[in-house]
Amino acid sequence: MNPIEISFEFFPPKTPEGVEKLRAARTQLTRLKPKFVSVTFGAGGSTQEGTLDTVLEIAKDGLEAAPHLSCVGSSRDALRAILDRYRANGIRHIVALRGDLPSGMVEMGELRYASELVAFIRAEYGDWFWIEVAGYPEYHPQSRSPRQDLENFARKVKAGANSAITQYFYNGDAYLRFVDEVRKLGVDVPIVPGIMPITNYAQLMRFSEMCGAEVPRWIARQLESFGDDREAIRAFGLDIVTQLCERLVKEGVPGLHFYTLNAATASKAICERLGYGIDQ
Ligand code: FAD
Repeated sequence: MNPIEISFEFFPPKTPEGVEKLRAARTQLTRLKPKFVSVTFGAGGSTQEGTLDTVLEIAKDGLEAAPHLSCVGSSRDALRAILDRYRANGIRHIVALRGDLPSGMVEMGELRYASELVAFIRAEYGDWFWIEVAGYPEYHPQSRSPRQDLENFARKVKAGANSAITQYFYNGDAYLRFVDEVRKLGVDVPIVPGIMPITNYAQLMRFSEMCGAEVPRWIARQLESFGDDREAIRAFGLDIVTQLCERLVKEGVPGLHFYTLNAATASKAICERLGYGIDQ
């Protein structure tokens, strides 16, 4: 038995090599018995077919697959066409997002925020889908104020979300405080922390800059000091992220959602240290 539920996030591969890499990662991670796996969606069209193909392949293997869906730059008709295909294929779990417009695209689309997408899905599909939304323990980078961001999060849950997955973070206090704050606003759904394993310093800093996640100075300085020593980065990253997960599990989180970047090794190593998959 796993200590608590885990889930993994993948992105739709763009090349035949990428398809094989994801299959290999999936085979390894499936042994850890995740509750579900999710597949990201590129706003603006880049990977949208890829999301459907990947989700259907995963579902065929008997694993619960949750496609991400973003509304930015899209119309109600286009969203309905995607949701109809998911429903026709028996997919019942969705991660509903606003998304970000790819550079060069200016048309915002018919729905402005994730809360409007959640309300749209509920209005059109009733309870068919289990809807996840995104939460930001360190606040969304475009939010006007922390307070408004918390209220906007509460709004999208109240529009009909069943649970939430957070942006990744390395400061456990930020997550715990976020949960406390939104509980005061009446949010009672599970809020699963998003976990980003650390394997590559430059990539981590780039992602974190883009999505507004803080890499604490002591972690950044350590990682930087390892230079090209990838083994040292991996070993340090494994310790740091495992300790974060241990703390979160002790605090009673409802699950852990791993951003795998389509590679199994780091997420698997953390899960094994936490005691997952030992009896499988
Ligand atoms: P929203 O909840 O709509 O919030 C966006 C911003 O608008 C916030 O600043 C919020 O405070 C503000 N806001 C919300 N409602 C209102 C309102 N009524 N009035 C004024 N301001 C408001 N991106 C992808 O492109 N594809 C993916 O597959 C993907 N998966 C993700 C999965 C997770 C778990 C997370 C955490 C993020 C993911 N993202 C993905 C990134 C996400 O799309 C971006 O962070 C995006 O900028 C915001 O999406 P959202 O759904 O959180 O938006």
